[in-house]
Order: sequence, then C-alpha cells, then structure tokens
Amino acid sequence: MRKDFLPFSRPSITEADIASVADVLRSGWITTGPKNAELEDRFRAFTGCRAATCVSSATGGMHIAMKALGIDPGDEVITPSMTWVSTVNLIVLAGATPVFVDVDRDTLMVSADRIEAKITDRTRLIIPVHFAGAAVDMDPIRGLADRHGLSLIEDAAHAIGTEYKGVRVGRTGTSIFSFHPIKNITTGEGGMVCCDDPIFEERIRRLKFHGLGVDAYDRRTQGRSPQAEVIEPGFKYNLPDILAVLGLRQMNRVDAMNAKRTLLAEYYREKLRDVDEIRPLALPEYSVKHAWHLFIVRVASTANGMNRDRFMTALKALNIGTGIHFRAAHLQAFYRKTFPEVAGTLPDTEWNSRRICSLPLFPDMTLEDVDDVVDAIKKVLIQ
Ligand SMILES: *Cc1c(COP(=O)(O)O)cnc(C)c1O
Repeated sequence: MRKDFLPFSRPSITEADIASVADVLRSGWITTGPKNAELEDRFRAFTGCRAATCVSSATGGMHIAMKALGIDPGDEVITPSMTWVSTVNLIVLAGATPVFVDVDRDTLMVSADRIEAKITDRTRLIIPVHFAGAAVDMDPIRGLADRHGLSLIEDAAHAIGTEYKGVRVGRTGTSIFSFHPIKNITTGEGGMVCCDDPIFEERIRRLKFHGLGVDAYDRRTQGRSPQAEVIEPGFKYNLPDILAVLGLRQMNRVDAMNAKRTLLAEYYREKLRDVDEIRPLALPEYSVKHAWHLFIVRVASTANGMNRDRFMTALKALNIGTGIHFRAAHLQAFYRKTFPEVAGTLPDTEWNSRRICSLPLFPDMTLEDVDDVVDAIKKVLIQ
C-alpha cells in the first residue's frame, strides 16, 4: 500500500510561480492591471479567439454571458444535467428554466439530435459541456443553433488545450474556461470568457466590473476620467493581478502539462484494459485532441456487492483519492424537489451518475503513481 495519500488532483505550482506572485504583491498594483492584460493576450494567442476577458471564476463568466444574452424569466436553456451545478443554478437564478438533455452513455457528451428534441418556442440558449477534456461534436450543434436562432455558450471549463477537428476550443463562438485549482491551469480561482464578437466582448468587460465602461487600470493607463459612469448595472467579477500572474506562469507550461496528462491517461487506458469491472469513458469518433482534464471510469456493480461508493471508500483506505464529476444536477435536493418530473427521463445521465469515478490525474503524477492506483483497484475488486 502507498505510504502517502495520492489525491485525485493537485495543482502544479513551482517556486518560480510563487516568486511571480510575490513580485506582483511588491509591485504596488495587485488588482486587475497589466498581468490581466498579458494573460488575456496569451489566452487569445493560445486559443486563436478574437477576444478574451479574464473573470474571477467560470461561474462569474457564465453569469455575465447569460446576462449579456438577456436570459430572462420564462426562457428555456438547454444543458446537460451531467454538468457542474453552477450552470444550472445560474439558469434558475435568472428566473429561466433549465431543460436537461441526456448525454451519450460512453462519452458524457450532448449531441445535436438529443438537443433538437428539447427545443421549444421558449428555448433561447444551449450550453454544451466539453466533457473531461474531450470536445463536444460542435458542428451539428452550431448548425442547429443557427437554424433555430438560438444562442450558444460552450462550457469549456475542462477544455484548456482541447482541439475539435484541428481547431482549439475557444477559437469560435463564445466559450468559458475555468482556472479553479483542479483545472488544467490554475489561478487559484479564475476564468476566461472567449468570444468572437467585439460587441459581446464590450458587454462582458462592462458587466464584470460594475457596468462601468472602464476599470481602474484602464482609467490610469488611458487617462480616462476617474469618475467612470455606469452604463448598465454590473457585477464584480474581475480577476486580481496577484492571480492573473499565476495564470501567465501556467500558460508557459500548459502544453507540457497537457502532454503529461495524456501520457498518464494513455498508460491508465492500457493498464485498465483487462479490468472488466472498470470502464473508462469512450473517446469520441470525430477528430479530437484530448486535454485529459479528468480520467473518468464507470464502476460496475459486482456479485460481491462492490459499487461506486464502496469502491471510492475502499480506495481511500488504500491512500488513493478519487472524485465524482458529476452527480447529475437533477438528482440533487433542490432540483429533485423543484423539477420532480425530470427523474427517470435521463437514463444515460442517471446510469453514469451512479457509476462514475475520477481517478487521480495531474501533471506532477508519475507512471508509478498510476501503477499504485491500478494495483489498488485490483485489490479492491477482489475484496
Ligand atoms: C469547474 C467547472 C465550472 C465552474 O468553474 P469555476 O471557475 O469554479 O466557477 C463550470 N463547469 C464545469 C463543467 C466545471 O467543471
């Protein structure tokens, strides 16, 4: 058994990363400023998008993107229930109705066919999720959105470096990335809104900072009046430079970190091939470059009473951490109570919600760590 606990995720932070944060702290400008601008430039170059705006979290970014689209009470928003709850919470908080679409049983992705069946004359917006680091099949979904005049926001929280048909996620349309500590790069907390429409970008910039046309740094660097005016009521979702500098440092290593994730994931797939009770997610059939944000498996129930929850507990006892991404949103207390009619209508989501488990995967892991996880899994399954 391992002597030390292996968490399912751990951010990669170097001494130089820490020193860069200290430098910003000493610089005299610690909130949104030059490091934000640099991180936006880097992310724009990385994804190839037209406009990138730093925000304090992907959730904050999603909030203002929905606000900018004018999602109102009575509107319907189509999204999977197999997603992080933040999206569903925001839909409900806007007074709109979440319309859950089932996901593919083996990739956890939404598809145009399943989305189309959920479109009504109240549908305004579709929020697909690029799951685990692979990409949603976007071409048919973009076609669908165009035909029905619907907005699209891609939840790209798992997709930093993901490519769909040779193009980085984020380059086209509107996508939101997360820099939470478990994501492929981190700023502690933070996120990025990428879009290809300058008018939308202007709304995002305004809504992330009180609805003012400019922020404090713009005022200093561009000599604008210190008394900026509220153009529309906005929020406070700007990213401090203390955090943005960490993102800049991580962007230097993002390709190397994703390559390491890929190496580890491929090794897992090989080592787990002959373990019948453990089924990794399938890879999409269209062309995808995987960012391997998560290594998700589904745990089969066995004759000796093994199930996902017991599997996780048993692994923890062997010093192996795991996670669940995600428990279906519609099965959580508030949503069960508020939308009781949904339970039972999303069979592939519910099947996975009971069985999925994320195994340890982070760039500072070694192949020996993967061996430890697989050995522990085999031990647990014959218990
Ligand atoms: C992490 C995550 C989010 C939210 O990101 P934050 O930066 O924590 O707000 C949204 N959607 C998905 C799919 C996520 O995994």
